[in-house]
Amino acid sequence: MSQSQQANYDDNNIFAKMLTGDIPYHKVYEDDKTLAFMDIMPQAKGHVLVIPKQKAVDLADLESEYAAAVLATSQKVMAAQRKVFEREGVIQMQLNGAQAGQTVFHYHIHLLPSSIHELGRHAVTQADSSELAAIAKQLAEAIAAQ
Ligand code: 5GP
Repeated sequence: MSQSQQANYDDNNIFAKMLTGDIPYHKVYEDDKTLAFMDIMPQAKGHVLVIPKQKAVDLADLESEYAAAVLATSQKVMAAQRKVFEREGVIQMQLNGAQAGQTVFHYHIHLLPSSIHELGRHAVTQADSSELAAIAKQLAEAIAAQ
């Protein structure tokens, strides 16, 4: 992870622990600056999170090179979601601060193959791990084929 250290960044947040390999996750894509994985409490089937390998709490902290990298990875993930789920509609969502509903304080983009009119509740219902693993595999294969 980038050495750039934000004063209010908690090194024990759940996504930081994924980046250090201390917590398991269903990987969709990884490169030197980003990681994409399945949301454990999806608001839609195929809900993916994209995070930078930088200690950024929210958008205010995100360095431009990581902002560019996170968007480039998001484009790869969205293309894979469109292919795998055979739908055009994908929501890009990102929350800044607890007042906005942010619950994990490491910057992340949500990519949800859904409609704003059909979105499920935020971070409420845990998905079946084997189902998440199967979707992650499909999406990873679709990205590898791009
Ligand atoms: P936020 O509320 O910060 O915008 O979104 C945090 C997201 O992280 C939520 O959608 C929530 O379901 C997801 N999440 C929370 N804990 C975990 C976890 O341990 N693993 C994974 N993969 N996702 C998580």
